[in-house]
Amino acid sequence: MNNTDKTQSIDNAAIAGTSVPDLEIPFESCVRDKNPDPCAIVIVGASGDLTARKIVPALFNLYLNEGLPDPFLVVGCARTKLSNQEFRDKMKNALKTANILDDQKWQDFSESLYYQAIDYGELPSFKALARSLRELDIKHDTGGNRVFYLAIPPSLYKSTAQMLGKAGLSTEGEKKNSWAKIVVEKPFGRDLDTAIDLDRSLHEHFQEHQIFRIDHYLAKETVQNILMFRFANAIFEPIWNRQYIDHVSITAAETLGVEHRAGYYEQAGVLRDMFQNHMMQLLALTAMDPPSLFEADRVRDEKVKVYRTIRPFPTADLKDYLVLGQYGAGTIDGKRVPAYRDEPGINPESLAPTFAMMKVFLDNWRWQGVPFYLTSGKRLAKKLTEIVIQFKEVPHSMFRRTLGEEIAANRLILGIYPDEKISLTFQTKNPGARVCLRSVTMDFHYNQSYTGPVLDAYEKVLLDVMLGDHMLFWRQDGVERCWSFLTPILKECETCKAPSELLIPYESGTWGPNIIRDLTKKR
Ligand code: NDP
Repeated sequence: MNNTDKTQSIDNAAIAGTSVPDLEIPFESCVRDKNPDPCAIVIVGASGDLTARKIVPALFNLYLNEGLPDPFLVVGCARTKLSNQEFRDKMKNALKTANILDDQKWQDFSESLYYQAIDYGELPSFKALARSLRELDIKHDTGGNRVFYLAIPPSLYKSTAQMLGKAGLSTEGEKKNSWAKIVVEKPFGRDLDTAIDLDRSLHEHFQEHQIFRIDHYLAKETVQNILMFRFANAIFEPIWNRQYIDHVSITAAETLGVEHRAGYYEQAGVLRDMFQNHMMQLLALTAMDPPSLFEADRVRDEKVKVYRTIRPFPTADLKDYLVLGQYGAGTIDGKRVPAYRDEPGINPESLAPTFAMMKVFLDNWRWQGVPFYLTSGKRLAKKLTEIVIQFKEVPHSMFRRTLGEEIAANRLILGIYPDEKISLTFQTKNPGARVCLRSVTMDFHYNQSYTGPVLDAYEKVLLDVMLGDHMLFWRQDGVERCWSFLTPILKECETCKAPSELLIPYESGTWGPNIIRDLTKKR
C-alpha cells in the first residue's frame, strides 16, 4: 500500500489457508458524504471567545478542505459595535493565533464575512437582522438557508431563540425548500427544570428537526470510533458484559485550571461542566446495546436506554458513590500554580467542585454489578481522556504452583487523548528457562495508516448541522434523563448544611483527593 494513491487497505492475511481480501475505501469518501446546501451561518455572540477560538477557525479549515458549501456566508452578530472590516480583522487575528492563517485563502474567505450589531432584547433589532439576511441571501445566492449558532451565555438562549422566531427567522420554506437551524451550546439548563424550560422555549418557534444541541466531544474521531470498534467487530461484543468485565473507568483529566472562564465555572462546577454532557456520552457509548442501524435516532434511542438504567445515588450515602474535590496550589509541568480560590474572578470561599469521581451502576442484564468509575477534574497530573475496560481475572490459575495465584487480568484501553489508540494488555511467557509471565500490550494508533485530512470536532459538528445530520447531537430525552440522575446529587451537594465536608481539597498536579481509593474498594 502506498499513501499517495489515497486508499486505505486492510492487509491480506493468510488465516488457516484462506486470505482476507483487500478492502479499499477512497479517503475522500471518509471525509464527507455529500456537500451541504448553500447557506448563511449566523453566529450570535460573535464578539466572544467561542467564535474566535473555535467556530471561525473551524469554518476556515472547512473552507480550506472544501467542506463549506459554495456559496456560503458567515454573519456575526453581538451587541458590540463593529464594522464588517473590524469583524474581519478580528477573525483574521483569531486565525493567526490559531496558526492556520493562509493569506491567499483568507482573502476569498473574508469576502463572505459580515457583521451586524444587535440588541438581544429588542425585536426591531432582530427584524433588521432578518432584512439584512434577506439582502445578503440575494447578493450571495445562499437560497434562504440559515444556521443560527447561539454563542452567547446560556442565560440568553431562551430569549434569543424567541426573538429569532418572532422576527420570522425560524420559518422554513420561505424560498423553495429553504431551511433554518438553531445550534445550542452546552450547558442545556442548570438542572432538570431549567432544561425542560429551555426546551419549551426553543420549541415555541423551532421544531425538533431544526434544533442541534452540541456536544463537540462526540465529534472527536476516537469517540466516534468507539461504536465502530464495538459493533463492526464480532469478537468484542460477546465478552462486553458482566460475565467478563470487572469494572470500567472513564477518565477525562485536565492540567488546565479555570483559565478565563471563572464566571461560568463558578456557576457550573465540574458536575455541570463535564458530567452532564461529555462523561454521560462516553458512558453511553461504552455501555449501550447495538442499534439496529447506524442512524441518528436509533443510536440515540440506545443511548437513552442506558441513561434509563442508571441507578440513582442514595442521597443519604452520597459519600459511598461520589468524591468531590477542589484544587489547591501545586506544581504542573514544573511551574507553581495557584489554588482555585486564588484564581482571578473566583470567590475566595467558593464551594465549586473542580474534581469529581463517581461510581455508577447500570441496572440491566448486561451490566448488573459492574461499577463504572467516572472521573474528571482540573489541574490533575496529566491531560488524559480514556476508557479502560478491566476484564476479570482468569477463573482458575494452572500456574499457581510456580507463579502464585495472581495473574494480571486483561485490560483494554480506548485512548482518546493524548494517544488516540486502542490497546489490549495480555499475558505472555517471558523468554527463558524459568516459567515467568509478562504483560505485553498490543497497540493500534488511530492515525497510524492514515495520512489524509482529519476533521476537528467543531468542523465535524458544523458540517453535520449544515447537512442536517443529528447523529452527534443530544436529543432532549437524553438531556432530561441525565439531569434526572444529576439534579438530586447537585441539590444535595449545594444545599447540604456542611458542603465543605463533601468537598475535599487536592494538590494541583496530583490525581485528585486521596480518598478516591476508598470508592474503588467498596462494592
Ligand atoms: P462569552 O462569555 O465570550 O460571550 C459571548 C458573547 O456574548 C460576548 O462576546 C458578548 O458579546 C455576549 N455577552 C456576554 N455576556 C453577556 C451578557 N451578560 N449579556 C448580554 N450579552 C453578553 O462566551 P463564549 O464565547 O465563551 O461561549 C459562548 C457559549 O458557548 C456559552 O454558552 C458557553 O457556555 C458555550 N461554550 C463555550 C466554550 C468556550 O470554549 N468558550 C466551550 C463550550 C461551550 P456582546 O457584548 O458583544 O454582545
